[in-house]
Amino acid sequence: MLPTPLHLIDGRRTPAADGRTFPVVNPADGQTISEVPLGGAAEARAAIEGAASAFPGWRDLPAHERARPLRALAEAMVRDQQRLAHLMTLEQGKPLAEARGEILYAASFLEWSAEEARRICGQVIPASSVEKRIVVLRQPVGVCLAITPWNFPAAMITRKVGPALACGCTMIVKPAEQTPLSALAIGELAMQVGIPQGVLNIITGDAPQIAAACFADPRVRKVTFTGSTDVGRVLVRQAADNLQRLTLELGGHAPFIVFEDADIDAALAGVMASKFRNSGQTCICANRLLVHRSIIEPFTARLAEHMRALKVGAGLEPGVTVGPLIDDAAVEKVESHVADAVERGAVVRVGGSRAMGTAMRCFLPTLLERCTPEMRCWCEETFGPVLPVASFETEDQAVAMANDTPYGLAAYFYTRDASRLMRVAERLEFGVIGANDALPSTAQAPFGGMKQSGWGREGGAFAIDAYTEIKYMSWRL
Ligand code: ADP
Repeated sequence: MLPTPLHLIDGRRTPAADGRTFPVVNPADGQTISEVPLGGAAEARAAIEGAASAFPGWRDLPAHERARPLRALAEAMVRDQQRLAHLMTLEQGKPLAEARGEILYAASFLEWSAEEARRICGQVIPASSVEKRIVVLRQPVGVCLAITPWNFPAAMITRKVGPALACGCTMIVKPAEQTPLSALAIGELAMQVGIPQGVLNIITGDAPQIAAACFADPRVRKVTFTGSTDVGRVLVRQAADNLQRLTLELGGHAPFIVFEDADIDAALAGVMASKFRNSGQTCICANRLLVHRSIIEPFTARLAEHMRALKVGAGLEPGVTVGPLIDDAAVEKVESHVADAVERGAVVRVGGSRAMGTAMRCFLPTLLERCTPEMRCWCEETFGPVLPVASFETEDQAVAMANDTPYGLAAYFYTRDASRLMRVAERLEFGVIGANDALPSTAQAPFGGMKQSGWGREGGAFAIDAYTEIKYMSWRL
């Protein structure tokens, strides 16, 4: 077992106030890797005190001084990528190469934010009379709470911490209970590189209690959340009393459309990258494959070959490309989606079940043909390595099928027709569009959803909007 890490509260490494802990389990074998502090309302209140006391000093620092420790944290993560990636694979299950990729991706948010810190500017707007000036100031919102998910244990933290700290906000991070070790390891590095006391606080434990304590305190001005749409709704209700600002990055149900004029090799590579990264456990994973009727047979035949070549197993095993799912409930959900589809007439072309005799929570990459809209896999997020396929005849039909969901996070399509490319991109009701591109996420781009996939955007300059208030001063000379 790894040693029990400690909370990072107001610059101090502390256990839970009552000494309680909870286990962190390796999804590959079900073994307990470590115990972590089980925090609740008391820890949340201590973290709010720390973050609120640190706020004026951090806010008033010159921007380049706020940038320095952020850049140092990015560099420390890059230097320490092997250790951090190993820890991530242990608690989350993703293949080691993917975990290393995530550490670098996570560091890129800190690096970008450190660069942007110097460019958070106001405006002077020409007034309507000579004796007036209109001055617009951009100021940090204050203490923020970040609640993050288990599928990207490092990047979902730095995507929030980077811009928040760059803007001069202070932050409390509550990572997912399944993956607290990566979060606490980042917190430890933050202390080592000199992020000042109270500016970044990390507490693990009882999510509802921690969130309730933060919503109850009007000093917490903003909550940023990545997770399920159901929990997003709970947070919206809780934010009502103190009217805290919210950024919500919720569930997705991404369509992946292959038009008859697509570059087929590129589309195949795209589906594979989008669907099987993190074993299908990302909110922007391709969840429904729509292929033009004229090419569906040859396309799915080649796709089946690619899928059979994937290597399923524990993330630390060399060559593994599809790791275990996060827990038993996740495997059961995927199983139930496949069973429901088969019952309603889908045909299993590849996979269709748990892996046998290997890591306990692995599900085989699964290709389901002849899928129809009433199947659960076609209308809900599966969050596993299952790809349901259906065909379409016309562009209008493909767009209508793609948009037929309450979610609106990411959508992908492949075509070589430039007019169609623009037309379809404009008509898809999703916040992130991959046009001949299956990997759209990057530090400088706005990431977020429409409809029930959330509010606001993270990434790039749009994230700066999320952590700043606009103050307008009308100045009579
Ligand atoms: P998933 O279903 O993928 O685990 P969740 O939305 O349940 O996604 O979890 C995402 C994050 O939200 C985690 O950090 C989790 O601890 C937290 N969370 C879950 N329930 C609540 C709640 N009622 N209030 C605040 N945070 C919560």
